[in-house]
Amino acid sequence: MTARPRTALSGERLDVFCPSDGKAFASIAASGAEDVDRAAAAAARAFEGPWRKVSALERGRMLTRLSALVKKHAEELAALESRDTGKPARQGRADAAVTERYYEFYGGAADKLMGDQIPFLDGFTALTLREPHGVVAGIIPWNYPLQIGARVLGAALAMGNTLVLKPAEDASLTTIRIAELALEAGIPEGVVNVVTGLGATAGAALSRHGQVDYVTFTGSPMTGTAIQQAAAVNNRGVTMELGGKSPQIVFADADLVKALPVIVNAIIQNGGQTCSAGSRVLIEKKIYQPVAEALAHRFAQLTAGPHVADLDLGPMVNRRQAERVAAMIAAAKEAGIPILAEGKIAPDAPSGGYYVAPALFGSVDPMAAIAQEEVFGPVLSLLPFDDEDDAIRIANSTEFGLVAGVWTADGGRQHRVAKAVRAGQVWVNSYGAGGGVELPFGGFKKSGHGREKGLEALYDMSATKTIVFNHG
Ligand code: ADP
Repeated sequence: MTARPRTALSGERLDVFCPSDGKAFASIAASGAEDVDRAAAAAARAFEGPWRKVSALERGRMLTRLSALVKKHAEELAALESRDTGKPARQGRADAAVTERYYEFYGGAADKLMGDQIPFLDGFTALTLREPHGVVAGIIPWNYPLQIGARVLGAALAMGNTLVLKPAEDASLTTIRIAELALEAGIPEGVVNVVTGLGATAGAALSRHGQVDYVTFTGSPMTGTAIQQAAAVNNRGVTMELGGKSPQIVFADADLVKALPVIVNAIIQNGGQTCSAGSRVLIEKKIYQPVAEALAHRFAQLTAGPHVADLDLGPMVNRRQAERVAAMIAAAKEAGIPILAEGKIAPDAPSGGYYVAPALFGSVDPMAAIAQEEVFGPVLSLLPFDDEDDAIRIANSTEFGLVAGVWTADGGRQHRVAKAVRAGQVWVNSYGAGGGVELPFGGFKKSGHGREKGLEALYDMSATKTIVFNHG
């Protein structure tokens, strides 16, 4: 039996609020430890049951069918994701399209990862197999539940694991729907389980559960530490994707016509609530003034509004997040950091919504809090630099190391800077905040460890087994 996400054994429920107006429009089960037990047991039974005998080809076909179902229900999923998270309608649609692509990618990948034959002693043959961990727990955040759920579910099932997904209490609805579509796609009962509820109860119980064999988490560094400590009790492996303070480095020879819209989008997309948001722009001093002016001009025009209005950005996901972002903006102003421009909140935006106007800060000291801490909101810091060495030093001066952008026409510099920047992904003359299902994704330093997306994720979602034959 698949653990049903609809009800908790206690019967307790949590209200679901639409960030655009702050009104409750649905509710989810407030799962407790006993519900997590039920889900983990269902996943463990499914893993030991017929699922182990399902071929990689067949698992791939199931994921491919799930991809087709996501396509069929794309409008419904997109609308649900937008309403639940407050993201503009077109972002909801983009997320549904990327989700479809994840399942397509991992459907095709399921039977492509191969083991090795190792040259060993005479009379022996040594082989390696990629084995599933068993039950994978996927604890996912509220910013891109469809996409992040898909990269976890796709890679976990492609490798033959079973899964317990714990979506964020602020945005669980599409994950519940995906679990239904998974059954419709022919993925057997018990293979994909969902527990909704609070992080401190359902999430904590899941990450320390004895029947969970591997934990993958995307979210804040503090919660990542708590989850690693919980998983350590059972000595289980983890993948941690914990956010960033990603720099975009703009040299004087950059194609600004190409760069500037990408730079603005990389911080405004999803209201800046993106792990890989380009939240620092490092600008060569020679062009600092005109670039700062152009960005200020654009920022002043940006407007936040309800998800259905499909403006530049939506509200923050909840009141706490909106207050946190507003407090960080206020603290930066208080510290005397020049504010170059502020965007607008649409005059007809519902008063109960969690809106924050975008903010652009100039001449930011690389060590200032606003240049060091992840805001997770529509706040961009501009930092002037002298030369290539200075740019690299500033780019690497935070505790994070997730993504970086390098904008220059100089081929040698493209390679040097891309290699010198400590980031899991570097984009040259482009920037893909969250983009590219094929591209391995993950961080250095406080941004975490392990890699998601692409074929690389299949390694995290499996373990090597070595088999040695003595045939004389
Ligand atoms: P935020 O602080 O913005 O809610 P988090 O990183 O804490 O972001 O949340 C990401 C995910 O982690 C959510 O699914 C949340 O429920 C879960 N979570 C939060 N706290 C814990 C915890 N102590 N143990 C396990 N999961 C948690």
